[in-house]
Amino acid sequence: MPTGTCPECEADVHVDTDADKGETVDCEECGVHLEVVGLDPVELDIVEEEDLDDDDDDDEF
Ligand SMILES: [Zn+2]
Repeated sequence: MPTGTCPECEADVHVDTDADKGETVDCEECGVHLEVVGLDPVELDIVEEEDLDDDDDDDEF
């Protein structure tokens, strides 16, 4: 099983054998969401999440 390195905590992150670029995986160590940006070798990039639950700035009607 291929592994990439988490940019956040540098842990080994297991990627599905048939994973494709653009798929997302979660780091088992720090829980950050990672996007597969390369396959040979496996490269991972942190996915920035914009709509977090603890953001109370935008009130919806
Ligand atoms: Zn991590």
